[in-house]
Amino acid sequence: MLNFNDLVVALEKLGLQGKPVIAHTSLRSLGHIVGGPDSVVTGLMYATGSVIMPSHTYKTMVTPVSGPANNAINYSRGQQWNRLAEPYQKDMPVDRMMGIIPESMRHWPEARRSVHPILSFVGIRAEKILKQQTIEDPFAPLRALVELDGWVLLLGVDHTTNTSIHFAEKLAGRKQFMRWALTPSGTVACPGFPGCSAGFQAIEPEIRSFTRSINVGNAVVQTVPLRALMRRVIEMIKQDKYALLCNRADCERCAEVRKT
Ligand SMILES: [Zn+2]
Repeated sequence: MLNFNDLVVALEKLGLQGKPVIAHTSLRSLGHIVGGPDSVVTGLMYATGSVIMPSHTYKTMVTPVSGPANNAINYSRGQQWNRLAEPYQKDMPVDRMMGIIPESMRHWPEARRSVHPILSFVGIRAEKILKQQTIEDPFAPLRALVELDGWVLLLGVDHTTNTSIHFAEKLAGRKQFMRWALTPSGTVACPGFPGCSAGFQAIEPEIRSFTRSINVGNAVVQTVPLRALMRRVIEMIKQDKYALLCNRADCERCAEVRKT
């Protein structure tokens, strides 16, 4: 059984003290940890300068009857799901796909959440980073993190959760999509929505030389400097416009990127 001290001692070996970090996490990957998700949030606070995590809320998403073409969306089929959508609220729980740790962080008194009704981030000691986000520029917090020489931390998860790769795809000129969110003031168009991340694990051998890795409990924890990660993703896409796309035959977003 892992305790809080084991976690902090291990995380400190990654050398992220004082640094801004975006973390992607799986509580289950650690095995049993005393104190559960709250211990992990506290451990991240101890071991970093500031920390943000995706706190996305996909259940706000709605499909209009029509919209831009080549948008990897079936407007008529989407109508049947609209009745399940819920209007975005600042205190809306984080989507379960993000894991339980960002939801735990959201309840911290000093935690702040950015403004996007689908692609928000939650963070501690990261107010300036979170404030950069707008509806039009959902990945602005990642731009701020790059400028601050930030790091990506993957705790028990692989690169298919690594949102920063989406930001690099955007910088490399890869197609972005339009999606829509239900909010208390009506439906809001959200440009700059990313493609699919199912093929992102192909980055791993490309960045291994500058990835730091440790074991904590049952989990592998990796950290990568954001600037170097960005550079490598952009180079890969420049060399091969299909780089990091997935191979699923039914993947609408990867198919659309291949077409453009
Ligand atoms: Zn895909």
